[in-house]
Amino acid sequence: MVQRAFYIGRFQPYHYGHHSVIRNIAKEVDEIIVGIGSAQISHTIENPFTAGERLLMVSKSIEEFDVKAYIVPLEDIYRNDLWVAHVKSMVPPFSRVYSNNPLVIRLFKEEGMEVKECPLYQRDRYSGTEIRRRILAGEEWKHLVPEAVIEVIEEVNGVERLKEISQDDC
Ligand code: NAD
Repeated sequence: MVQRAFYIGRFQPYHYGHHSVIRNIAKEVDEIIVGIGSAQISHTIENPFTAGERLLMVSKSIEEFDVKAYIVPLEDIYRNDLWVAHVKSMVPPFSRVYSNNPLVIRLFKEEGMEVKECPLYQRDRYSGTEIRRRILAGEEWKHLVPEAVIEVIEEVNGVERLKEISQDDC
């Protein structure tokens, strides 16, 4: 039987920490479903990129891995106790979840799903919060993300977007 796993992130932006997790998952399963979480949110300081932009970042970056991947944008729902059912209704069937997010782990375990925690890869360095901070501060950030992510951010003028939405009107 095909072993299919689910991994979700907001990927704001996708970085080498996420990439290292997916590389490891790809070695353990036949197929991987990547959920693009909080798909409805974009153009905020914490979530600057749209679901479509993040889908591009992930799909182009993971082309190098030898695994069949399905990338599915998933909107949040405001009922955590129903979230797992919501996810299952939106993505192909899967038998295992990979995550480091405590809420995600808790919700899937409560529904009896197998959850594997993944080792963190230099979390202080490879973190969406740190990368967005660096972009806003005009510091180096491109070495923290795959080349495909740089291309997507440049294509959509992401640096300019983040800087503009971080301004106030005074
Ligand atoms: P994220 O992009 O911050 O992280 C994705 C995953 O990568 C997490 O497991 C995280 O621990 C891991 N990660 C981050 N940096 C890493 C590193 N350096 N090395 C290894 N792993 C690293 O995304 P997130 O916020 O965890 O995504 C969870 C999504 O699930 C959110 O969109 C959230 O809204 C959604 N969610 C929704 C509901 C609901 O709608 N009720 C409930 C639960 C979760």
